[in-house]
Amino acid sequence: MACSVTYDELAAYASGECEAGRGAEIARHLAVCEACRGRMHAIAAADRALAAPPRWEPSAGAVLAASRAIARATAPPAPIEPGIMTLEEVGRHLRLNPEQLDEIVETLPAFEIAGQVRVRRQKLYEWIDQRERMFRGASMGARERDPAALDTP
Ligand SMILES: [Zn+2]
Repeated sequence: MACSVTYDELAAYASGECEAGRGAEIARHLAVCEACRGRMHAIAAADRALAAPPRWEPSAGAVLAASRAIARATAPPAPIEPGIMTLEEVGRHLRLNPEQLDEIVETLPAFEIAGQVRVRRQKLYEWIDQRERMFRGASMGARERDPAALDTP
């Protein structure tokens, strides 16, 4: 079917701004022309979209908070670290083989229970902190001694 209705006429009809006589002709055409009905629905939908208030834009902070919440909700649960460790676990944690672990086992903040040696994770970390301070002190002392050594002829 040849369409006698233009886009502008459809737009005017859709917004109710068509003169009455022409409006009646367009209505008759729309009743028989599926293509024009489709175009008119599209025009009406576009008009409604343009008339709608602008979409709300979330702030960057809101986007960040939402993405963090999603990440938290979808993240696998963190493995539970036992507060009490076996010597084997301490060795693995410190990346020491059994022989190396034997060398330092006497210095570990360990305790005995039911014939087993155990280490409290918190105490192990304190012990590591202490060793770090000792190591730092020793290496700083060495550095301080070196310039003095250079100054001495
Ligand atoms: Zn048509």
